[in-house]
Amino acid sequence: MFIDDLKRMTEHFKPTDPLPVLFVGHGSPMNAIEDNPFSRTWREVGQILPRPKAILCVSAHWETAGTHVTAMAMPRTIHDFGGFPRPLYEAQYPAPGSAWLAEETQKSVRKAQVGLDQRWGLDHGCWSVLLPMFPQADIPVIQLSLDYTQPAAYHYELAKDLSALRKKGVLIIGSGNMVHNLRRIVFQSGGVDDFNRPFALDWALEADATFKKLIAGRRHAELSDYQALGSAVQLAVPTPEHYLPLLYTLALQEADEEITYFNDVPVGGSLTMTSLIINQPA
Ligand code: ZN
Repeated sequence: MFIDDLKRMTEHFKPTDPLPVLFVGHGSPMNAIEDNPFSRTWREVGQILPRPKAILCVSAHWETAGTHVTAMAMPRTIHDFGGFPRPLYEAQYPAPGSAWLAEETQKSVRKAQVGLDQRWGLDHGCWSVLLPMFPQADIPVIQLSLDYTQPAAYHYELAKDLSALRKKGVLIIGSGNMVHNLRRIVFQSGGVDDFNRPFALDWALEADATFKKLIAGRRHAELSDYQALGSAVQLAVPTPEHYLPLLYTLALQEADEEITYFNDVPVGGSLTMTSLIINQPA
């Protein structure tokens, strides 16, 4: 049981230890306000994890030319989706920003000149997960953008520069979906309710197995060159943005660190909610 494992992993955590790193499959924005198995796990993760000083989120939903971090004092909650029920548009995540973390990130990243952004905020890739995970919204949060002009291997290398932040009490969260093809989603009941129906098409299962095999073998160069992984992976990653946050997370795995999966469920045929935590062994 993942939650028991997580308790064991974090039992002996010392304030000087690097914080765990998360990749979270975020799926439907409705997970932000629904009480379901995914959001319940996020809630429990937030309760068990050592309390971070600040959170850095790499969301699939913020793509820019160049790399930027949000640097405003109070990032707005961005409702960057359409066609969902009204309560989702009324949801707010009023966590403060962090000028400190924005500057620390800027200093840490040598691969790129990181810009300080005053316009974005928190998009749903970030806040839909944080709302259940840290419902008090009292931990400062910044986002790091995805540079759409760069290939996957570049993102993997850039992410390595973030490693020092873990020892400064920063929780780094990559938020996307390993398998994510909305054009192939199977709405059997004809509505968004199906978004969370556990079900996978064959190619989605095949891609999921490929990713897990390479993650277990720490074959990160192959994961970065995902376009060479065959037709199932090409269907799973038709565009890079939901996959790249996984590379940001994996780039931070140290030699002695383990990976534990949670919310490891395919939904709607063509998405996986599969999530993982990188942590020192218990
Ligand atoms: Zn998304």
